[in-house]
Amino acid sequence: MIYKRVTLLRGKEESLGRFHPWVFSGAIARLDEGIVEGDLVSVFSSRGDLLGNGHYQIGSIAVRMLTFDDQAIDTAFYAARLTNAYRLREALGLVRDDNNAFRLVHGEGDFLPGLIVDIYAGTAVMQAHSPGMHYARHEIAQALTQLPDGLVRNVYYKSETTLPYMAHLDPVNDYIVGRYDTDVAMENGLKFHVDWLKGQKTGFFVDQRENRSLLEHYAAGRRVLNMFCYTGGFSFYAMRGGAALVHSVDSSAKAIKLTDDNVELNFPGDTRHKAVAEDAFKYLDNMESGAYDLIILDPPAFAKHKSALRNALMGYRKLNAKAIDKLPAGGLLFTFSCSQAVNKEQFRLAVFSAAAQCRRRVRILHQLTQPADHPINIYHPEGEYLKGLVLYVE
Ligand code: SAH
Repeated sequence: MIYKRVTLLRGKEESLGRFHPWVFSGAIARLDEGIVEGDLVSVFSSRGDLLGNGHYQIGSIAVRMLTFDDQAIDTAFYAARLTNAYRLREALGLVRDDNNAFRLVHGEGDFLPGLIVDIYAGTAVMQAHSPGMHYARHEIAQALTQLPDGLVRNVYYKSETTLPYMAHLDPVNDYIVGRYDTDVAMENGLKFHVDWLKGQKTGFFVDQRENRSLLEHYAAGRRVLNMFCYTGGFSFYAMRGGAALVHSVDSSAKAIKLTDDNVELNFPGDTRHKAVAEDAFKYLDNMESGAYDLIILDPPAFAKHKSALRNALMGYRKLNAKAIDKLPAGGLLFTFSCSQAVNKEQFRLAVFSAAAQCRRRVRILHQLTQPADHPINIYHPEGEYLKGLVLYVE
């Protein structure tokens, strides 16, 4: 199928030849008349060769490629891509009775740029990051309900804050298939209330699943501080792993309430856990040295854009120094960065500076990343965003 044409400047077809899924606006020579934001377009080289089909939008990323041939982007296309995504999660062993929370579609990583879908116990929370995906939302939602094993009963569309504001799409967060039934999802046998209505992102951070499991392995007998706890994910793995005590801290009172609710779901009445609403930097400054022998730092993205990089790195250094400083000999630090603009080396350097500043002996035990349900399209290295280190501090 050939849609309206986007023709590239000479020499600008190379990255598409290497299957990179973005066309930048600076690479475009001509647009067919009448192309509007969100349209399906066919991209051609200056020589007139078809390079593939994608969604057009106004901005620095002008086309997000969906195919590298002339395949039509229709219901059958979405159904095939979603089935492919589902088969991968099945192969990863994520679809189980005791695990019904996972990412089904990770944008470019699932060859669906502009689309995120997380699954929580039969509800798919769907986020469009491009006008094209917004227009396709009903088609996609229908295809979701047709996935095997009745995976999706309800589809909640949540794109009020993810679509380009200037596109004037006025998306409304609401169910577009089914309706609310349960908000309790399960991750590796632990239960979580997932608040997709008011919570951050799609309501839960499924990307820390494997890192939480690793933490469980180290938790026995330790006094654990889960800093930036949000809904308490790491805390419950620590408790199941036999932690002596677990304190969860977040500046958001709502997050603390959710964490307390989740304690009641999993460990009712367990007095090892306490949740505190406070600023991380303040809490770390005021806490006693040696109060915890395992600290988790999982802050929000400090750099949303490249321009904020310097400040972000300084922020990571400061935060990590405060934690390293307070750890006793033999303490463990699980430290993360989810800023896409900060790469692995930069993050590691920031943490290295923090360790040096504290003049402690520090070894890296693990280098962590995002889990396999957040796959990185090999042609799109920008898809890598989550970085973590487990440090042994003496
Ligand atoms: N670790 C969590 C995800 C963390 S998201 C999980 O596994 O689910 C980042 C969290 O940091 C958010 O809940 C946000 O409310 C909190 N936060 C942001 N700034 C903060 C600050 N200065 N002090 C404490 N918490 C903060």
